[in-house]
Amino acid sequence: MAVLSASRPHTNGNGHARKTPFDIQKIFGEKVFWYDEMKARLPKASYKKLRATIEKSEPLPSDVADAVAMAMKEWAVEHGATHYTHWFQPLTGRTAEKHDSFITPNDGGGAVAEFSGANLIQGEPDASSFPSGGLRATFEARGYTAYDPTSPAFIIENDNGSTLCIPTAFASWTGEALDHKTPILRSMEALNKEAKRALHLLGHTDVNRVYATLGTEQEYFLVDAAYYNDRPDLGTAGRTLLGAAPPRGQEMDDHYFGSIPDRVLSYMQEVEMELYRLGVPIKTRHNEVAPGQYEIAPIFENANVAADHQQLIMMTLQRVARRYGMVCLLHEKPFSGLNGSGKHCNFSMATDTGMNLLEPGETPHDNLLFLFFCTAVLKAVHEYQGLLRASIASAANDHRLGANEAPPAILSVFLGDQLTDVYDQLLDQGKATSSKESGFLGLGTPVLPRIPRHAGDRNRTSPFAFTGNKFEFRAVGSSQSVSFPVTILNTITAEAIADLAAAVEKKLGKKRNKKALEAAVSEVIVEVMQSARPIIFNGDGYSDAWHKEAEERGLLNLKTTVDALASLCDEKNVAVFEKHEVLTKHELESRHEIFTEQYVMTLNIEAATTEHMARTMVLPASIQYLSDLATTASLGVDLKLGFGGVKETAKEVSALVDDLRATLGKLDKARTAAHKAKDEAKAMKTKVIPAMNTVRAACDALEGVVPADLWPLPSYREMLFMK
Ligand code: ADP
Ligand code: MG
Repeated sequence: MAVLSASRPHTNGNGHARKTPFDIQKIFGEKVFWYDEMKARLPKASYKKLRATIEKSEPLPSDVADAVAMAMKEWAVEHGATHYTHWFQPLTGRTAEKHDSFITPNDGGGAVAEFSGANLIQGEPDASSFPSGGLRATFEARGYTAYDPTSPAFIIENDNGSTLCIPTAFASWTGEALDHKTPILRSMEALNKEAKRALHLLGHTDVNRVYATLGTEQEYFLVDAAYYNDRPDLGTAGRTLLGAAPPRGQEMDDHYFGSIPDRVLSYMQEVEMELYRLGVPIKTRHNEVAPGQYEIAPIFENANVAADHQQLIMMTLQRVARRYGMVCLLHEKPFSGLNGSGKHCNFSMATDTGMNLLEPGETPHDNLLFLFFCTAVLKAVHEYQGLLRASIASAANDHRLGANEAPPAILSVFLGDQLTDVYDQLLDQGKATSSKESGFLGLGTPVLPRIPRHAGDRNRTSPFAFTGNKFEFRAVGSSQSVSFPVTILNTITAEAIADLAAAVEKKLGKKRNKKALEAAVSEVIVEVMQSARPIIFNGDGYSDAWHKEAEERGLLNLKTTVDALASLCDEKNVAVFEKHEVLTKHELESRHEIFTEQYVMTLNIEAATTEHMARTMVLPASIQYLSDLATTASLGVDLKLGFGGVKETAKEVSALVDDLRATLGKLDKARTAAHKAKDEAKAMKTKVIPAMNTVRAACDALEGVVPADLWPLPSYREMLFMK
């Protein structure tokens, strides 16, 4: 490429930037078919039945389904929809859709828009090419989609038309879950059942429904589309496989929460506007730590709806970026040496009576309800560390976890001063009698207001932190579907709640008075915490000392995906999923197979792309430079000049080219060996990744000497600092 790298053109497009401000109250949810529309368009009896289906999981009678379908179609057609699709979440971690039009030709040569209850509740996309992990053979192509009435249908608009999207579950002909939605729905039921039972035992008999709540914080990078197009690695792998560190990275900490560049802000506003229309309650936007990195976060919702909305967030971030001449990178580690991206999953449990079960109040020590549910989560995380670790395992997330910028691969819980103190009192004295006060922040001048202080500071290094009235699972990867981690959180929490409730019941015997209940609950909490205590860690999760201490505490340290997936199908894990009817053994094994396959395929693509870029881009550019140097050096002979510097440079480049050739040979060998290996995933980890790293090191060294105008790839500096 004969342009000076410094002046390589970038897009700086301004897309569809809307000049007219919008009224957030008017547009919110206008593309969503939910209670207001249902009520306005459905006969009263049908509306009541549908709400009972949504809120109490009652089956949807077929005549009601017909009425709902008709109302939904009318609404969708009014919004310009010509097609509908069953929108589902196969185990690729993304969403899938197959569109059908509403059109039905009539006798008169015209056509009418038709959509029946049957069309609404069931679909049969052939869909044989989605990963099934052995749940069916390829010739058994049947897969069914089934309407999830608990998640609102919505309309996706394009320039030339609109499509009604109906959230659905996806299952095989045998009824096994081929998707991420079915298990999350089953796990919501499990949590509801166990938590409700416990609440009734604890005296809250008015509660009819408990649901998990989820608020996600999505981190992402933006790069100029022109640079993206010139980087084969971003296109195929979603991350840079080569690239020397820029002279300046994130060390100045000046990007974090900095003022948002204009192009980016316009982009964010358009993303938010689209998401508001879709009823996704976006709340927060800001710059993140690395240059070019940003975050978007909605307000929490029912976890199943939040998981669907999370998919819409990822989809919208990517679609809208193109309109601004940018590409949104959701990968966990697009740039080496800079912070990667995560997706914090804020998790709690709420009741239909409006309680947050993880709300400690001012004095958590005497809030037995809170302590009961908080203890259940601690026990769940302690007992199922391996399962939680496996839920976030991917080749991409391996770059983050434990890389001293993201939580370590060791699962532990940050509780903060106040709660740790309450548990310490319980364990040391058998009861807790006080809660440390949070107090006020003194800012040393009367001009500033006295602001109340939280009961505990934050801890950025913890993978699972209590943050006031919810737990925040921070180790989740930015590109992944949140459904599987949340399914696991729901299931293991349900299991722990069931255990705690059973223990309380046993202690109570026939006694049913308040005092006996309080004594029983306190005793159970103490007993449970005696074994779960090692999971609490408030210190620095990035430190080496923690790795040692965690080992002494007997906590797992599953450093890579290969280690984490190895225990996914352990007997204990199978048992918890089967007991709560979330996944059968067969379904869990299929996940194991698919995640392993995805790991191998990802690394295979990365290795092939690394090799391709090194051979067809880096090597020719370097040889060209070597040739220029050799030509210049030979001129020196004619001119009777030494040209010592030229020759030195030529020697240096020549040696680096030799290095690159040698590392390429090794990568080739490693890839061949991996394909033949019995355990291909392990061979990828132990042979291919190290070989890829050496090729990268050789390429990056060349990037440091080859002239910018010969270098065929946009550099880190260009990609990260052009606004
Ligand atoms: P923090 O400052 O601790 O990160 P925020 O108030 O910014 O907390 O919230 C982060 C995310 O947590 C948001 O998506 C928010 O809606 C969500 N959140 C707040 N309360 C709950 C809850 N009870 N359950 C689940 N998520 C919650
Ligand atoms: Mg947070």
